[in-house]
Amino acid sequence: MKATDRLQRVMQEISQAEMDAGRAAGSVTLVAVSKTFDAETIAPVIAAGQRVFGENRVQEAQGKWPALKERMPDVELHLIGPLQSNKAADAVALFDIIETVDREKIAKALAQEMQKQQRQPKLFVQVNTGSEPQKAGVAPGEVVEFVNSCRSVHGLSIAGLMCIPPFDENPGPHFALLEKLGREAGVAELSMGMSADFPTAIAFGATSVRVGSAIFGPRA
Ligand SMILES: *Cc1c(COP(=O)(O)O)cnc(C)c1O
Repeated sequence: MKATDRLQRVMQEISQAEMDAGRAAGSVTLVAVSKTFDAETIAPVIAAGQRVFGENRVQEAQGKWPALKERMPDVELHLIGPLQSNKAADAVALFDIIETVDREKIAKALAQEMQKQQRQPKLFVQVNTGSEPQKAGVAPGEVVEFVNSCRSVHGLSIAGLMCIPPFDENPGPHFALLEKLGREAGVAELSMGMSADFPTAIAFGATSVRVGSAIFGPRA
C-alpha cells in the first residue's frame, strides 16, 4: 500500500476515534512521523495535504526539511526526539514545535536561542510516565514544578505535555496520567499515541498523535 493510502486510512481512524470519544471533529492533530524516510517518500504525503510532520533527530531533519519547507512553507515540523543543548540553536531555527523539553539546561538554552533568533517555536515538556531509567522526560512528580520553572525562571511558555509509554505496557494508564498532569500544570495540549495505540490516546484526551509506521510503513 502507498503512504498516501495509509495516510487516508489513519485520518479515517482518527475521525472515528474522535467520534467514539465524543470529541469534536478535527480536534486531534496528526503528526506524521517521517524519521528515516527521505524527501522523495515524504513529498507525496505533503502533496496529499498532510502539513504536520515529526522528526526525532535534529541533524537528520536538517538534511531534508529546509528544501521541503521552501516548497511548502506552511508545513509544521515537530521535534519529537531528545535534544542536546549544543543543538538548541539548530532546533530553534528549524522546528516549529519542540516536544522534548525535559531539563533546566535545555530550557535555558532554548530561552537564550529564542531570544537571539527572535523565533518562538511552541514548546512541550516530555514526561517519563513510566519512570523508565533509560528514557528521557521529567519524572511525573516533578512536572508541575518544572513547567512553573520554565515559565518563571526562563520566561518560556509551555503549551503542552508529551509522553512515550513503556512499549511493553498497557498505554491507557500512562495516557491518563499525562492528562491529569496536564490539568495540574495548566497546559492545554497533550502529545500522546503512536501507530499501535493512537485511538486509545484519543479516548484519553490526546490533542495530537504521532504516527509513523502506520503511514510510511516499517522502518529499516
Ligand atoms: C518514531 C516515533 C513515533 C512514531 O512511532 P510509530 O510506532 O512508527 O508510529 C512517535 N513518537 C516518537 C517520539 C517517536 O520517536
